[in-house]
Amino acid sequence: MTRIFDDDLQSGLGTRAIHAGQRPEPLAGAIMTPVYLTSTYVQEGLGKNKGFEYARSRNPTRDALERNVAALEDGRHGFAFASGTACVDSIMKLFQSGDHIICGQNVYGGTFRLFNTLLQKLGLTFTYVDTRDAQRIADACTPRTVAVLVETPTNPLMWITDLSAAAEAAHRAGALLIVDNTFATPVFQRPFAHGADIVFHSTTKYLNGHSDMIGGMALLRDDDLADRLGFIQNASGAIPGPFDCWLALRGTKTLHLRMPRHDENGRRVAAWLAERVGTERVIYPGLPSHPQHELACRQMRGFGGMITVDLGTRDRAAQVLERTRIFSLAESLGGVESLISHPASMTHASVPPERRAELGITEGMVRLSCGVEDIGDLIADLDHAFAT
Ligand SMILES: *Cc1c(COP(=O)(O)O)cnc(C)c1O
Repeated sequence: MTRIFDDDLQSGLGTRAIHAGQRPEPLAGAIMTPVYLTSTYVQEGLGKNKGFEYARSRNPTRDALERNVAALEDGRHGFAFASGTACVDSIMKLFQSGDHIICGQNVYGGTFRLFNTLLQKLGLTFTYVDTRDAQRIADACTPRTVAVLVETPTNPLMWITDLSAAAEAAHRAGALLIVDNTFATPVFQRPFAHGADIVFHSTTKYLNGHSDMIGGMALLRDDDLADRLGFIQNASGAIPGPFDCWLALRGTKTLHLRMPRHDENGRRVAAWLAERVGTERVIYPGLPSHPQHELACRQMRGFGGMITVDLGTRDRAAQVLERTRIFSLAESLGGVESLISHPASMTHASVPPERRAELGITEGMVRLSCGVEDIGDLIADLDHAFAT
């Protein structure tokens, strides 16, 4: 189990991003945490070792990343996984057959697929509710409810869940609140401050930020719950390799610098789009036209770089998607480079069409992940793509 260094919590977010969880390497004093490419550790004698026995259980590069991200989220324990999806899968192993989980209706498509195909077969039961209304969480609770899982803002509809209200509803039912904080990152949103019990990330996205690895992280405050998840991490073994941990650790060092720029570019692009296609078709929590703008302002310190725009038809969406040059047509998000995608046929293709229609994910929707390039170039790129 990797626990934070307590003194890391005394510094500000930027200092934590750069230093938390890392100490100069003892052999030569290397300032950068080495990539510990090893499967095992030489022991001094029977039962005598430096706390490292086998690299599925612990690796010093992974330890550093786990401490770093735990400190960024104001958690006490961190656990790294091979992907965001492996992280959710391992979290769900805290529960057992017959247990009931309430899940946000517009969670990440892969989370929905994992629940509805694999985990349901193993006896977990799921109810999907619109968590924008905490009363619906309360109404869906049963005596078997063990957890409420929410994502805020959601992808691609940018629904916002009031985390304090969700925590209250979950706790009243004796359930845990689990929050996917991938979109907002700890720079803009701190779920633990609102009562979350487990916070998780696809580190593939903003935390790493450079589109060069796949990973996940779970952060916790409670020691007993952390013991249980640490056991699962080792017993299930869905761990990331040390080089991926090192890449993510390099990424988090600039998280506090990148996020304000994603946010600035996001706001400017959203305003430009709203002027161009009408404010009701641009979905961005930072726009006053967003139905939950006020809640977003209260709960988040920034809105980030994710924007969804409805262009009406699949043909019009395709026209725009194929004409951008800086915004690359690709899945994923949160990297320094700007991306554009078509949720209905890409990220949300695993969600059945009737369900997509029910949620409001249309064929005309285009999703932008605004990177950290120069805003003038991003707007010029969109201007070219939107020209008919
Ligand atoms: C990408 C993503 C995931 C899944 O993470 P992987 O690293 O792709 O497995 C989960 N939640 C959100 C919000 C995501 O964007």
